[in-house]
Amino acid sequence: MTDVLNDRTTALDDARFAFREELLSSGQLIGTSVPGIYGRSGSFEQVIAGLDRVLGETFSSLGATVLRFPPVYPRADFERTDYIASFPDLSGVVSSFERGDREHRELLAAREEGEPWDGWLDPTDVVLTPAICHPLYATLEGRLPEGGAVYDLSGFGFRHEPSIDPLRMQSFRMREFVFVGTPDAAQLYRDTWLDTSVALLASLGLAVDAVPANDPFFGRAGKMLVSAQLRENLKVEITVPLYADLHEGTAIASANCQRDHLTAAFDIQTADGETAHGACVAFGMERTVLALLRTHGMDTESWPVAVRAILGL
Ligand code: ATP
Ligand code: ZN
Repeated sequence: MTDVLNDRTTALDDARFAFREELLSSGQLIGTSVPGIYGRSGSFEQVIAGLDRVLGETFSSLGATVLRFPPVYPRADFERTDYIASFPDLSGVVSSFERGDREHRELLAAREEGEPWDGWLDPTDVVLTPAICHPLYATLEGRLPEGGAVYDLSGFGFRHEPSIDPLRMQSFRMREFVFVGTPDAAQLYRDTWLDTSVALLASLGLAVDAVPANDPFFGRAGKMLVSAQLRENLKVEITVPLYADLHEGTAIASANCQRDHLTAAFDIQTADGETAHGACVAFGMERTVLALLRTHGMDTESWPVAVRAILGL
Protein backbone atom coordinates (compact mmCIF):
# COMPACT_ATOMS: atom_id res chain seq x y z
CA MET A 1 0.00 0.00 0.00
CA THR A 2 1.42 3.40 -0.92
CA ASP A 3 1.73 6.15 1.63
CA VAL A 4 -0.30 8.79 -0.20
CA LEU A 5 0.53 11.54 2.27
CA ASN A 6 4.28 11.21 1.93
CA ASP A 7 4.63 10.10 -1.70
CA ARG A 8 4.41 13.59 -3.11
CA THR A 9 5.97 13.83 -6.54
CA THR A 10 4.34 16.80 -8.26
CA ALA A 11 3.63 20.46 -7.54
CA LEU A 12 -0.06 19.51 -7.54
CA ASP A 13 0.57 16.95 -4.76
CA ASP A 14 2.30 19.68 -2.76
CA ALA A 15 -0.58 22.11 -3.31
CA ARG A 16 -3.11 19.49 -2.19
CA PHE A 17 -1.03 18.65 0.86
CA ALA A 18 -0.76 22.36 1.75
CA PHE A 19 -4.55 22.86 1.46
CA ARG A 20 -5.08 19.78 3.65
CA GLU A 21 -2.69 21.19 6.26
CA GLU A 22 -4.55 24.51 6.18
CA LEU A 23 -7.90 22.75 6.77
CA LEU A 24 -6.46 20.72 9.64
CA SER A 25 -4.66 23.60 11.32
CA SER A 26 -7.72 25.87 11.09
CA GLY A 27 -9.77 23.07 12.68
CA GLN A 28 -12.26 22.92 9.78
CA LEU A 29 -11.36 19.25 9.27
CA ILE A 30 -10.07 16.85 11.89
CA GLY A 31 -7.54 14.36 10.56
CA THR A 32 -7.42 10.63 11.33
CA SER A 33 -4.76 8.01 10.61
CA VAL A 34 -6.48 7.18 7.30
CA PRO A 35 -6.28 9.58 4.35
CA GLY A 36 -9.75 10.62 3.26
CA ILE A 37 -11.42 9.98 6.64
CA TYR A 38 -12.03 13.23 8.52
CA GLY A 39 -14.07 14.76 11.30
CA ARG A 40 -15.89 18.02 10.45
CA SER A 41 -16.00 21.15 12.61
CA GLY A 42 -19.15 22.94 13.79
CA SER A 43 -18.44 25.77 11.39
CA PHE A 44 -18.06 23.30 8.50
CA GLU A 45 -21.39 21.71 9.43
CA GLN A 46 -23.12 25.10 9.53
CA VAL A 47 -22.16 25.61 5.90
CA ILE A 48 -23.36 22.08 5.05
CA ALA A 49 -26.71 22.87 6.71
CA GLY A 50 -27.00 26.19 4.82
CA LEU A 51 -26.20 24.50 1.55
CA ASP A 52 -28.72 21.73 2.23
CA ARG A 53 -31.43 24.33 2.85
CA VAL A 54 -30.59 26.34 -0.30
CA LEU A 55 -30.58 23.17 -2.41
CA GLY A 56 -33.99 22.21 -1.04
CA GLU A 57 -35.34 25.67 -1.91
CA THR A 58 -33.76 25.71 -5.37
CA PHE A 59 -35.26 22.34 -6.33
CA SER A 60 -38.57 22.88 -4.49
CA SER A 61 -40.62 23.35 -7.68
CA LEU A 62 -39.96 19.68 -8.51
CA GLY A 63 -42.17 18.59 -5.63
CA ALA A 64 -39.73 15.72 -5.10
CA THR A 65 -40.50 12.87 -2.72
CA VAL A 66 -38.01 13.11 0.14
CA LEU A 67 -36.34 9.80 1.02
CA ARG A 68 -33.36 9.04 3.23
CA PHE A 69 -31.44 5.76 3.28
CA PRO A 70 -28.63 4.66 5.65
CA PRO A 71 -25.04 4.51 4.32
CA VAL A 72 -25.24 0.75 3.75
CA TYR A 73 -27.60 -1.20 1.50
CA PRO A 74 -28.32 -4.82 0.59
CA ARG A 75 -25.57 -6.67 -1.18
CA ALA A 76 -28.24 -8.46 -3.25
CA ASP A 77 -29.21 -5.04 -4.71
CA PHE A 78 -25.56 -4.10 -5.24
CA GLU A 79 -25.18 -7.33 -7.20
CA ARG A 80 -28.01 -6.40 -9.55
CA THR A 81 -25.86 -3.43 -10.70
CA ASP A 82 -22.48 -3.81 -12.40
CA TYR A 83 -20.67 -1.73 -9.77
CA ILE A 84 -18.24 -4.49 -8.75
CA ALA A 85 -17.33 -5.00 -12.42
CA SER A 86 -16.89 -1.30 -13.17
CA PHE A 87 -15.46 0.00 -9.88
CA PRO A 88 -13.98 -2.91 -7.87
CA ASP A 89 -11.30 -0.60 -6.48
CA LEU A 90 -13.85 1.85 -5.04
CA SER A 91 -16.18 -0.77 -3.52
CA GLY A 92 -16.60 -1.54 0.16
CA VAL A 93 -18.21 -4.70 1.54
CA VAL A 94 -19.05 -4.95 5.23
CA SER A 95 -17.61 -7.99 7.00
CA SER A 96 -18.43 -9.40 10.40
CA PHE A 97 -17.85 -12.44 12.55
CA GLU A 98 -20.33 -15.22 11.89
CA ARG A 99 -18.45 -18.32 13.07
CA GLY A 100 -18.29 -20.23 16.36
CA ASP A 101 -16.40 -20.26 19.66
CA ARG A 102 -13.43 -22.17 18.29
CA GLU A 103 -12.89 -19.68 15.47
CA HIS A 104 -13.31 -16.83 17.93
CA ARG A 105 -10.49 -18.27 20.05
CA GLU A 106 -8.34 -18.54 16.91
CA LEU A 107 -9.09 -14.94 16.04
CA LEU A 108 -8.13 -13.81 19.55
CA ALA A 109 -4.91 -15.83 19.44
CA ALA A 110 -3.95 -14.28 16.10
CA ARG A 111 -4.73 -10.81 17.46
CA GLU A 112 -2.67 -11.54 20.57
CA GLU A 113 0.27 -12.43 18.29
CA GLY A 114 -0.18 -9.17 16.42
CA GLU A 115 -1.26 -11.12 13.32
CA PRO A 116 -4.10 -10.24 10.96
CA TRP A 117 -7.45 -11.45 12.36
CA ASP A 118 -9.74 -10.33 9.56
CA GLY A 119 -9.47 -13.74 7.87
CA TRP A 120 -12.03 -14.92 10.45
CA LEU A 121 -14.57 -12.38 9.23
CA ASP A 122 -17.03 -13.05 6.40
CA PRO A 123 -18.85 -10.65 4.09
CA THR A 124 -22.30 -9.78 5.46
CA ASP A 125 -25.36 -9.09 3.37
CA VAL A 126 -24.72 -5.31 3.29
CA VAL A 127 -22.29 -3.16 1.30
CA LEU A 128 -21.31 0.48 1.77
CA THR A 129 -23.45 2.68 -0.48
CA PRO A 130 -21.23 4.07 -3.27
CA ALA A 131 -23.76 6.49 -4.80
CA ILE A 132 -26.85 7.43 -2.85
CA CYS A 133 -29.23 6.92 -5.78
CA HIS A 134 -28.49 3.17 -5.89
CA PRO A 135 -30.62 2.25 -2.82
CA LEU A 136 -33.47 4.28 -4.34
CA TYR A 137 -33.44 2.46 -7.69
CA ALA A 138 -33.55 -0.84 -5.81
CA THR A 139 -36.95 0.16 -4.36
CA LEU A 140 -38.61 1.26 -7.63
CA GLU A 141 -39.21 -2.06 -9.38
CA GLY A 142 -42.43 -2.00 -11.44
CA ARG A 143 -44.39 0.75 -13.20
CA LEU A 144 -43.89 4.45 -12.57
CA PRO A 145 -46.80 6.90 -12.55
CA GLU A 146 -47.63 8.94 -15.68
CA GLY A 147 -45.03 11.74 -15.94
CA GLY A 148 -42.43 9.77 -13.98
CA ALA A 149 -41.23 10.47 -10.44
CA VAL A 150 -38.69 12.73 -8.72
CA TYR A 151 -36.81 12.00 -5.49
CA ASP A 152 -34.79 14.13 -3.09
CA LEU A 153 -31.99 12.06 -1.53
CA SER A 154 -29.20 12.82 0.91
CA GLY A 155 -26.67 10.69 2.70
CA PHE A 156 -23.15 9.38 3.04
CA GLY A 157 -21.45 7.51 0.21
CA PHE A 158 -18.28 5.44 0.51
CA ARG A 159 -15.59 5.20 -2.15
CA HIS A 160 -12.30 3.52 -1.43
CA GLU A 161 -9.99 6.17 -2.87
CA PRO A 162 -7.43 7.23 -0.24
CA SER A 163 -5.83 10.47 -1.37
CA ILE A 164 -3.66 13.34 -0.30
CA ASP A 165 -6.29 15.67 -1.75
CA PRO A 166 -8.73 16.76 0.97
CA LEU A 167 -11.38 17.05 -1.76
CA ARG A 168 -11.15 13.30 -2.35
CA MET A 169 -12.61 11.71 0.75
CA GLN A 170 -13.51 8.08 1.32
CA SER A 171 -16.75 8.88 3.12
CA PHE A 172 -18.71 11.98 2.13
CA ARG A 173 -22.22 13.31 1.72
CA MET A 174 -24.18 13.78 -1.47
CA ARG A 175 -27.49 15.48 -2.06
CA GLU A 176 -29.21 14.16 -5.16
CA PHE A 177 -32.33 15.00 -7.09
CA VAL A 178 -33.24 11.98 -9.17
CA PHE A 179 -35.78 11.73 -11.99
CA VAL A 180 -37.12 8.49 -13.45
CA GLY A 181 -39.48 8.49 -16.41
CA THR A 182 -39.43 8.54 -20.20
CA PRO A 183 -36.10 8.91 -22.05
CA ASP A 184 -36.99 12.39 -23.39
CA ALA A 185 -38.15 13.66 -20.02
CA ALA A 186 -34.97 12.32 -18.35
CA GLN A 187 -32.76 14.13 -20.86
CA LEU A 188 -34.72 17.38 -20.46
CA TYR A 189 -34.56 17.06 -16.66
CA ARG A 190 -30.77 16.65 -16.70
CA ASP A 191 -30.20 19.62 -18.99
CA THR A 192 -32.63 21.98 -17.21
CA TRP A 193 -31.42 21.29 -13.70
CA LEU A 194 -27.79 21.36 -14.74
CA ASP A 195 -28.24 25.00 -15.74
CA THR A 196 -30.06 25.85 -12.52
CA SER A 197 -27.32 24.19 -10.47
CA VAL A 198 -24.53 26.06 -12.26
CA ALA A 199 -26.32 29.35 -11.53
CA LEU A 200 -26.82 28.49 -7.86
CA LEU A 201 -23.17 27.54 -7.31
CA ALA A 202 -21.99 30.64 -9.20
CA SER A 203 -24.15 32.79 -6.88
CA LEU A 204 -21.98 31.50 -3.99
CA GLY A 205 -18.95 33.16 -5.59
CA LEU A 206 -17.52 29.92 -7.03
CA ALA A 207 -15.80 30.11 -10.45
CA VAL A 208 -17.84 27.22 -11.83
CA ASP A 209 -17.67 25.65 -15.26
CA ALA A 210 -19.76 22.80 -16.74
CA VAL A 211 -17.61 20.21 -18.50
CA PRO A 212 -18.24 16.82 -20.13
CA ALA A 213 -16.92 14.07 -17.85
CA ASN A 214 -16.73 10.33 -17.30
CA ASP A 215 -16.76 7.95 -14.36
CA PRO A 216 -13.47 6.23 -13.40
CA PHE A 217 -14.35 2.79 -14.85
CA PHE A 218 -11.74 0.19 -13.92
CA GLY A 219 -9.35 -1.58 -16.26
CA ARG A 220 -9.18 -2.15 -19.99
CA ALA A 221 -12.90 -2.93 -20.43
CA GLY A 222 -13.62 0.33 -18.61
CA LYS A 223 -11.99 2.36 -21.42
CA MET A 224 -14.90 1.51 -23.74
CA LEU A 225 -17.42 2.66 -21.15
CA VAL A 226 -15.51 5.93 -20.69
CA SER A 227 -15.55 6.69 -24.41
CA ALA A 228 -19.28 5.88 -24.72
CA GLN A 229 -20.05 8.14 -21.76
CA LEU A 230 -18.10 11.01 -23.31
CA ARG A 231 -19.40 10.46 -26.86
CA GLU A 232 -23.01 10.48 -25.72
CA ASN A 233 -22.49 13.35 -23.25
CA LEU A 234 -24.04 11.35 -20.41
CA LYS A 235 -22.13 13.01 -17.57
CA VAL A 236 -21.51 16.72 -17.05
CA GLU A 237 -19.51 17.92 -14.06
CA ILE A 238 -19.69 21.31 -12.44
CA THR A 239 -16.07 22.08 -11.67
CA VAL A 240 -14.18 24.79 -9.80
CA PRO A 241 -10.46 25.47 -10.32
CA LEU A 242 -9.01 25.14 -6.82
CA TYR A 243 -5.31 24.60 -7.54
CA ALA A 244 -4.74 27.46 -10.00
CA ASP A 245 -3.12 26.27 -13.22
CA LEU A 246 -1.86 23.05 -11.63
CA HIS A 247 -5.25 21.38 -12.19
CA GLU A 248 -8.15 21.99 -14.55
CA GLY A 249 -10.79 21.94 -11.83
CA THR A 250 -12.45 19.78 -9.19
CA ALA A 251 -16.02 18.49 -9.62
CA ILE A 252 -18.34 19.73 -6.89
CA ALA A 253 -21.49 18.40 -8.56
CA SER A 254 -22.52 16.29 -11.52
CA ALA A 255 -25.57 16.03 -13.74
CA ASN A 256 -25.96 12.56 -15.16
CA CYS A 257 -28.08 10.74 -17.71
CA GLN A 258 -28.13 7.16 -16.51
CA ARG A 259 -30.19 6.10 -19.53
CA ASP A 260 -31.53 2.60 -18.69
CA HIS A 261 -28.40 1.65 -16.77
CA LEU A 262 -30.03 1.23 -13.35
CA THR A 263 -33.67 1.17 -14.43
CA ALA A 264 -33.10 -1.97 -16.54
CA ALA A 265 -31.16 -3.64 -13.71
CA PHE A 266 -34.08 -3.05 -11.33
CA ASP A 267 -36.84 -3.57 -13.88
CA ILE A 268 -38.37 -0.08 -13.63
CA GLN A 269 -40.89 0.88 -16.32
CA THR A 270 -42.67 4.01 -17.47
CA ALA A 271 -46.46 4.21 -17.23
CA ASP A 272 -46.54 2.86 -20.82
CA GLY A 273 -44.52 -0.20 -19.89
CA GLU A 274 -41.27 0.83 -21.61
CA THR A 275 -37.99 0.59 -19.72
CA ALA A 276 -37.68 3.90 -17.86
CA HIS A 277 -34.62 6.15 -18.00
CA GLY A 278 -33.00 7.79 -14.98
CA ALA A 279 -31.23 11.14 -14.57
CA CYS A 280 -29.71 12.73 -11.50
CA VAL A 281 -28.15 15.94 -10.32
CA ALA A 282 -25.73 15.11 -7.51
CA PHE A 283 -24.02 17.63 -5.23
CA GLY A 284 -20.85 16.74 -3.34
CA MET A 285 -21.61 18.44 0.00
CA GLU A 286 -18.10 18.37 1.49
CA ARG A 287 -16.55 19.26 -1.86
CA THR A 288 -18.77 22.31 -2.17
CA VAL A 289 -17.92 23.49 1.35
CA LEU A 290 -14.21 22.90 0.68
CA ALA A 291 -14.45 24.89 -2.56
CA LEU A 292 -16.08 27.73 -0.59
CA LEU A 293 -13.33 27.60 2.07
CA ARG A 294 -10.66 27.61 -0.63
CA THR A 295 -12.33 30.53 -2.43
CA HIS A 296 -13.42 32.72 0.49
CA GLY A 297 -10.98 31.73 3.23
CA MET A 298 -10.89 29.46 6.28
CA ASP A 299 -12.90 31.84 8.48
CA THR A 300 -16.55 31.65 7.44
CA GLU A 301 -17.31 34.81 9.44
CA SER A 302 -15.27 36.84 6.98
CA TRP A 303 -16.92 35.40 3.86
CA PRO A 304 -18.66 37.91 1.55
CA VAL A 305 -21.93 39.18 3.04
CA ALA A 306 -23.97 38.03 0.02
CA VAL A 307 -22.62 34.47 0.29
CA ARG A 308 -23.27 34.35 4.04
CA ALA A 309 -26.79 35.61 3.43
CA ILE A 310 -27.61 32.90 0.87
CA LEU A 311 -26.29 30.22 3.22
CA GLY A 312 -28.06 31.75 6.24
CA LEU A 313 -24.78 32.03 8.19
P1 ATP B 1 -23.93 8.27 -10.94
O1 ATP B 1 -25.33 8.48 -10.42
O2 ATP B 1 -23.75 8.53 -12.39
O3 ATP B 1 -23.30 6.99 -10.46
P2 ATP B 1 -23.15 9.90 -8.83
O4 ATP B 1 -24.54 10.26 -8.51
O5 ATP B 1 -22.46 8.93 -7.95
O6 ATP B 1 -23.05 9.41 -10.31
P3 ATP B 1 -20.70 11.34 -8.95
O7 ATP B 1 -20.44 12.31 -10.05
O8 ATP B 1 -19.95 10.06 -8.99
O9 ATP B 1 -22.26 11.18 -8.94
O10 ATP B 1 -20.48 12.00 -7.54
C1 ATP B 1 -21.29 13.12 -7.19
C2 ATP B 1 -20.47 14.18 -6.53
O11 ATP B 1 -19.94 13.65 -5.32
C3 ATP B 1 -19.24 14.63 -7.31
O12 ATP B 1 -19.55 15.64 -8.23
C4 ATP B 1 -18.37 15.17 -6.19
O13 ATP B 1 -18.72 16.49 -5.86
C5 ATP B 1 -18.72 14.28 -5.03
N1 ATP B 1 -17.65 13.28 -4.85
C6 ATP B 1 -17.36 12.23 -5.66
N2 ATP B 1 -16.30 11.55 -5.19
C7 ATP B 1 -15.90 12.20 -4.07
C8 ATP B 1 -14.87 11.97 -3.10
N3 ATP B 1 -14.02 10.95 -3.20
N4 ATP B 1 -14.77 12.83 -2.06
C9 ATP B 1 -15.62 13.87 -1.92
N5 ATP B 1 -16.61 14.12 -2.79
C10 ATP B 1 -16.77 13.30 -3.84
ZN1 ZN C 1 -26.80 9.50 -8.97
